Amino acid sequence: MHLLNKFIVATIPLVPKPIVRYFAGRYIAGEELSDAVNTVRILSKNGMNSTMDVLGECISNRADATEATLEAISREKLDSNLSVKLTQLGLQLDKKFCLENTRKIIQKAKELSNFVRIDMEDSTCTDDTINVYVQLRKEYSTLGIVLQAYLHRTESDAVRLMDMGYMNFRLCKGIYVEPEAIAYKKREEINNNFNKVLEVMLKRKAYVGIATHDGALVQNAYRLIKDLKLQQNEYEFQMLLGVRTDLRTQIVNDGHRLRVYVPYGHHWYKYSTRRFKENPEIAGYVFKALFSKNSFNSK
Ligand SMILES: Cc1cc2nc3c(=O)[nH]c(=O)nc-3n(C[C@H](O)[C@H](O)[C@H](O)COP(=O)(O)OP(=O)(O)OC[C@H]3O[C@@H](n4cnc5c(N)ncnc54)[C@H](O)[C@@H]3O)c2cc1C
Repeated sequence: MHLLNKFIVATIPLVPKPIVRYFAGRYIAGEELSDAVNTVRILSKNGMNSTMDVLGECISNRADATEATLEAISREKLDSNLSVKLTQLGLQLDKKFCLENTRKIIQKAKELSNFVRIDMEDSTCTDDTINVYVQLRKEYSTLGIVLQAYLHRTESDAVRLMDMGYMNFRLCKGIYVEPEAIAYKKREEINNNFNKVLEVMLKRKAYVGIATHDGALVQNAYRLIKDLKLQQNEYEFQMLLGVRTDLRTQIVNDGHRLRVYVPYGHHWYKYSTRRFKENPEIAGYVFKALFSKNSFNSK
């Protein structure tokens, strides 16, 4: 990351929340469910599906808030499924409680003919997340998991899950800071592993959400899709709300399915700061905003 960006990101905790909220605006649909519903509708009009993520609510309310989202998706007939993080369902407090909470959500999704994607968090959660997924996948077919290309273990996790017949993945680079002993750190190594794992998955006919904004990885995925003669309904691309809308439109125009990750809720802070870290232009935006008079009043 550019030094100036590093500095800006490191000082974010000192920045007044309304200013952070201003920059977060592009990455989150809003604070209310109705904001997310509107965003999903707009994406849908532009030929894109969504996956909604509820940011916030304390762990005890979490499953209820998530179920309310599933109900809204069904009621409003939205082209959206749901993404969940297991730590927000109690993974680090009580694994049994987390399993029960997650089961409730998957059951609801099944009743409403929907699908739940379990996000992957930092490496202290990888085994437990996979365990919960495997346990619930034995009971339900309407869920998938995320694997991160920066982890050395990912190819063998993918193969192990596919050997069990569990063939629905989102593949992303991975966003958490992980030790060198277990993770690739160089961009080139991460990209090589992304391409390698994607090929392994697609060759075995797994359904993959190819989750990246990296043009080179998208081009490589196009090549694989062509070489393997995959049909449009055998994979999808996935991107985060507010990131590379140009590439997003291009992928749709090229005739591929594309799903946008749509986070909403009151607890937008942590999610947004993760996004700032990835934004190569964040320093420029901050300076522009600081020196342009009305920028904070314009939203
Ligand atoms: C749908 C989806 C779901 C995800 N789920 C998870 C998950 O469960 N667990 C996990 O660890 N990670 C998850 N991620 C994040 C992922 O791991 C990466 O951190 C993130 O996508 C950036 O990697 P990249 O492949 O886009 O490549 P990068 O090399 O980081 O980015 C490629 C280009 O995209 C643009 N870009 C990327 N991010 C931003 C940004 N925030 N703002 C502006 N421009 C940007 C820049 O132009 C950059 O050069 C998810 C990503 C997506 C798209």
